[in-house]
Amino acid sequence: MINIKSASDIAKMKIAGRITGEALKLAGEKLCAGMTTKELDTIIHDYIVSQGATPSFLGYGGFPASACISVNEEVIHGIPGKRKIREGDIVSIDVGAYIGGFHGDSARTFAVGKISPENEELMRITEESLYKGIEKAVAGNRIGDISSAIEEHVRKFGFGVVKEYIGHGVGKKLHEEPEVPNYGKAGHGPRLVPGMVIAIEPMINLKGDGVRVLGNDWTVVTKSGSYSAHFEHTVAITSDKPILLTKVD
Ligand code: MG
Ligand code: MG
Repeated sequence: MINIKSASDIAKMKIAGRITGEALKLAGEKLCAGMTTKELDTIIHDYIVSQGATPSFLGYGGFPASACISVNEEVIHGIPGKRKIREGDIVSIDVGAYIGGFHGDSARTFAVGKISPENEELMRITEESLYKGIEKAVAGNRIGDISSAIEEHVRKFGFGVVKEYIGHGVGKKLHEEPEVPNYGKAGHGPRLVPGMVIAIEPMINLKGDGVRVLGNDWTVVTKSGSYSAHFEHTVAITSDKPILLTKVD
């Protein structure tokens, strides 16, 4: 069942979304070569808690940290730890904050210093594909319109689309219905109606769609070993334009 949010629910989700977006922005500002992923996680944790919120991911399904931090060929669910971030890395940070009974969920891939031109393009096109999807997130459209807009854009550049992990509804639970794949056919899937809130989150590989899970049972990496990018916003469907709940300036 798809939960439809009231205006007051959306108002609460704006707060959760803002804190999520701010934590992610702060992490991007602090990110630099030489720091560990655990240090970055602590910055995110402390900011979320300072705002009176709870990190959504901490303890979720047993996840041991506040943020997922996935470096280079890691796609999602990277576990913060002793790994040192290096010049030339691309670092995907996925953050959630819970407050007032609702979650926010947002991710972004950051470049550390100078990165290769192909990874620069991967990041740029992945972010663009998120916005191609968001353009379709209007009442009357279907989920498949979002999915196909994302896939069409990234396939033009020959990139791989992760199929095993997808976007989702967000609300009182971090993961709700409907599923929001990053591939599919326009005109298919559930109809979008005002009050739906979804996380749109393309996970795009430089080479090939394939992924596998590491021995820690969490971290998803590309099968090809090529780098991967991830951009995500929590988006509210309205009778007008979509609202990006996790976007902060
Ligand atoms: Mg996320
Ligand atoms: Mg998500």
